[in-house]
Order: sequence, then structure tokens, then C-alpha cells
Amino acid sequence: MKVLILGAGYGGLMTALQLQKELDYNEAEITIVNKHSYHYITTHLHAPAAGTLPTNRVKIELDDLIDREKINRIQQEVVEISLENKSVKLKDGQILVYDVLVIALGSDIETFGIKGLKEHAFVIRSVNSVRLIREHIEYMFAKYKAEPDHSEYLTFIVGGAGFTGIEFVGELADRVPELCKEFDVNPEVVRIINIEAAPTVLPGFEPNLVEHAMEVLKGKGVEIRTNTPIKEVTAEGVTLANGEQIKSGTVVWTGGVRGNKIIDNLGIETIRSRAKVDPYLRAPGYKDIFIIGDSSIVFDENVKPYPPTAQIAVQEGEYVAKQIVSLIRNGEMKLKPFKFQYRGTVASLGRREAIGTVGRWKIKGMTASLMKQLIDNRYLYSIGGLPLVFKKGKFLG
Ligand code: FAD
Repeated sequence: MKVLILGAGYGGLMTALQLQKELDYNEAEITIVNKHSYHYITTHLHAPAAGTLPTNRVKIELDDLIDREKINRIQQEVVEISLENKSVKLKDGQILVYDVLVIALGSDIETFGIKGLKEHAFVIRSVNSVRLIREHIEYMFAKYKAEPDHSEYLTFIVGGAGFTGIEFVGELADRVPELCKEFDVNPEVVRIINIEAAPTVLPGFEPNLVEHAMEVLKGKGVEIRTNTPIKEVTAEGVTLANGEQIKSGTVVWTGGVRGNKIIDNLGIETIRSRAKVDPYLRAPGYKDIFIIGDSSIVFDENVKPYPPTAQIAVQEGEYVAKQIVSLIRNGEMKLKPFKFQYRGTVASLGRREAIGTVGRWKIKGMTASLMKQLIDNRYLYSIGGLPLVFKKGKFLG
């Protein structure tokens, strides 16, 4: 049986590793296609973006994780999927066919139609995109030193105060003193402004934890502006919906994601490019096509969509792998519909500060920060064992 997995992020990689663990050699012909030769820890990307963690710490070569005797790996970009013909077209023209398909291509940026955003804003999406941000921040410090009348070079605007935006401003605020020292800049010139259209930051977190987050970030000098939609982004900064203009040399957009645009062309129902899957995570009407992670949308018992997270993508990957093993060995799926087990969420606020909910506990400060590291290290352990934890893990950083 030919099993084809598209994407080696949280969902796709977990599917592949679980199949690798459960299947014997030659029980199936498994192929994984991914744009890059590596898996990246998306949940850490805010740190290399701010420059507080080297980029190579968030990259893991896929060949260090997968057994090439069991899994064939293709480094290519998927350009088209035909569910009817059971085929996948790659950018180099190759056509791959499959018996079972797992689509785990992640997400694209949601711009909400904001003018100039695609052209002028940076995004925290991939290893390459965060490298650009890090380099650009340093360049802005150097540029300000050459043109000290332009204090706007050191105004950093972050659009969106959800998980990614908050984690990034926390980290950037930690990096600023180091940059000021390096470039001999008065820290008072530097501004970090976090702009959010909604009335509050960090949706989904308890109000008292949000309050703590706001206090911590304000203490680090971050300006937080809620109820403030951005209307346009230009090379000079942003224009807000109320007409106010803020000059800035750097705009980083973290305001939202939608599914991968490839999903829109599958011919099945989607919500913001995320496929509406059946209770077994299959494309409706297809018994051998699974769509997981940010590429699909799953609802809870109150018909509220689960937010797209690594946590759900990993659980979906494990579930789908088990169903595929059953399909291979028994000719049918054995598991009940997919059920998400929420294990909590912790958001970092920079060095040794975080907030979160784990089980019944609401945690903050150093405890939450340690918990975040534990969660991150546990993920590394699940994909690469202790050696990977020691190589890429975080310890009291
Ligand atoms: P991804 O992990 O994005 O993987 C998709 C893979 O497909 C990538 O390897 C990509 O290169 C590849 N790909 C995409 N298009 C193509 C193509 N056309 N051809 C070939 N390959 C392709 N979630 C949490 O649970 N906890 C957190 O703390 C958390 N923090 C986050 C912090 C940041 C800064 C960000 C950006 C996200 C965070 N998330 C967090 C969300 C989480 O990262 C995503 O929900 C998760 O990555 C989704 O997994 P996925 O497998 O669907 O997609």
C-alpha cells in the first residue's frame, strides 16, 4: 500500500514517526514530501526572530528522525492535489500517486485584507522568515546609528496580540538592552508597539493571567494598544483605522493564520482555507484521504472550532497513523472518531516569564516558564528521544 504524507510539520512528522514505529519493513511504501530537508519547531520561532536563540536550534534535519529504509523522503514543493485522480503534483513536475494520503501542509498568513501587509510586513512563519526579521532588526539599529534623526528606525510594530505576537514582543524586549549595548544606542529611543484590533490580548487565557502578561510586558517597556485595527502597512510604517500614522522601520505581522491555499482547490468544503473533515479526519466522501493540523478544522462538542495548534496537530498525526496501520493490516479503520485531549497552554513572555493553564492550574512567572520548557522538551523527546532534548532543548533559558 502506498502511503503519501504531505508536509513534515507537527502533524505530518508525527504521522510518519508513528508509522515508522508501528510498521515493519516493507509493510507499506511510505513517502513524505516537504519543502525543506528539516522539521522546524514553530512554537519556538519567536525567539530566533528576536535574536535570543540561534536559528539552528529550531531546525531538525528530517534524516536524523526518519529511517530511510522505512520512509522515502522527497524535498519538493507540492503544487496541486487531485483527489479524483489520487495524484499529487510537485513543483519539479513529478506526479506521485497514492493509496492513502495525509495532507498536513500547515497554514498561510491571514491578512484580513489589510493593504500593503503582504508587501511591507515581516511574518513569523518559517526558519527563513525569522532569519529575515533578526537581520532586519540589527540592520535598523545600524541604520539609526548612521542617521540618528530617524528615531522611527527603532520603532518596532507588531500587529496582533495573540499567542505569537505576545511571545515575540516579550522576547524582543529582552533582546533590546543587548542590542542597545552593542550599537551604543540610548534604550529610550527604542519603542516596541503591539497593536491589536480586538478589545483584549491573548484570547482564551483567563483575565487575571492576561493582566499579569500585560504588567510584565509593560514593565519591559512594551506599549500595548488594543481596540486598534491597522488599516494599511507601508514602507514608512502603519496607518490605523482611526487615521493615525505611526512611523516605523519594522512591522511584524502575527495577526492570524488561514489554511494552506492548496486546500482551496481540493473541491471540498473549507472555512478560511481549512478543510472541514469528517469525524475521522478524512476529506468528506473519501475513505483514504486524511487532512490534519492547520490544514483542517475540527469542532468541539459545542461546535466551536479548536484553534490551530501544534498540540492538536500532533494528536491528529498519532490518531491518523493508527488508523492507517489498521487499514494496512485489517483493511478497515478500527478507532472511534478523533477526540482532542486538551492538555493546557503556556505562553512565554520572554526570559523566565510566562502564563498558562495546565489541567486545573493557572500558572505564571518562573513556574509557567519552566512548564513551557518542559512541554517543549517533551515534544522533542517524543520525536527524537533524549539525544534531541540535549541537542535542541531549552533549559532555564
Ligand atoms: P506546520 O507545522 O506548519 O507544518 C507544515 C509543513 O508543511 C512545514 O514543514 C512546511 O514547510 C510544509 N509545507 C507547506 N506547504 C508546502 C508545500 N506546498 N509543499 C511541501 N511542503 C509544504 N501551537 C501550540 O500548540 N503551542 C504553542 O506554543 C504554539 N506557539 C506558536 C508560536 C509561533 C511563533 C507560531 C507561528 C505558531 C505557534 N503554534 C503553537 C501553532 C503551531 O505551530 C501550528 O498550529 C502547528 O505548526 C501546525 O502544525 P501543522 O503540521 O499543521 O503545520
